[in-house]
Amino acid sequence: MNFTRFPRRKYIQTPTPIESMPALSRALGMDINLYIKRDDLLPGAAGGNKTRKLEFCLADALEKGADTIITCGAVQSNHCRLALSWSVKENMDCHLILEERVKESYKKDASGNNFLFELLGVKSIEVVKGGTDMKDAMENKADALRAEGRKPYIIPGGASNAIGAMGYAACAEEIMGQLNDLHLNVDHIIVPSGSAGTHAGMAVGLKGINAGIALSGINVSRPKNIQEKIVYQLALETAEKLGLKWGVAREDIVCFDNYVGPGYSLPTDAMVEAVKLFAGTEAILLDPVYSGKAAAGMIDLVRRNFFKKGANVLFLHTGGSPALYAYMDSFR
Ligand SMILES: *Cc1c(COP(=O)(O)O)cnc(C)c1O
Repeated sequence: MNFTRFPRRKYIQTPTPIESMPALSRALGMDINLYIKRDDLLPGAAGGNKTRKLEFCLADALEKGADTIITCGAVQSNHCRLALSWSVKENMDCHLILEERVKESYKKDASGNNFLFELLGVKSIEVVKGGTDMKDAMENKADALRAEGRKPYIIPGGASNAIGAMGYAACAEEIMGQLNDLHLNVDHIIVPSGSAGTHAGMAVGLKGINAGIALSGINVSRPKNIQEKIVYQLALETAEKLGLKWGVAREDIVCFDNYVGPGYSLPTDAMVEAVKLFAGTEAILLDPVYSGKAAAGMIDLVRRNFFKKGANVLFLHTGGSPALYAYMDSFR
């Protein structure tokens, strides 16, 4: 795939590691070989998946002459932390609109990403009620900033539009290159499926390079049928942007929704077990909202013999560990 036709800031200099997880594989005792793609180690303050998408989104903003970024997320949003972090590096202002998806969950003096928003020098934080139209809220903020003479650029939640999703199409190509170098035949890739850019981008990328590797998303909020539709729609838009001749098919998009628990960002026992297992066997820090629930899904699929005996399964670690410090009570 050719990404050079699009504006892109190269924030990432080297591929993130693919590591084997022998101790975790042994702990599960199921004749499955688990591997991990360490996108938690991407550059940008405290790492994580949004950096790949922001390479394209911030380049687009700069090309359009913007001097200010507006974006949105939940109260502990990793995306907001990384959009802010790269805005700082680009010498742009960054304004955040935070959605209180769980009532009363915003605390000005909270730990985790919330603390980092202040430390990284956010220009403003506006907290809105769960269910607010975030696009509207960001447009209103943009109008206000334009009236002050600024040139704002809106990045949607999670940077999950076709521009941002190209970052994960590029990641699929990066992974395939590494697997070929290692001569490692991976049967299945597991990704968290949230605002959908990661999942959609990976689906497009794997298809675009004809990888022939199965891909499954583990939902962190929505029911299966709704999430699959959202991922598919974004995958279609991304495939079209990249000029993918054979496109993506509806059946390329597969989601599991049985690991969400009571709702987005709400802890589950399986998430707590997964975070503790990864920490205790591989010394890898997951997060409570995304990678912890995705890992819980992968572990359950291993235990239920979803993968064939001896399969090589690659887990995409999307980062998020700063949020652990806002959830310490769940682990004690
Ligand atoms: C945003 C995020 C995800 C989900 O990625 P989407 O592209 O929004 O689906 C997964 N893990 C972490 C740590 C995230 O911050």
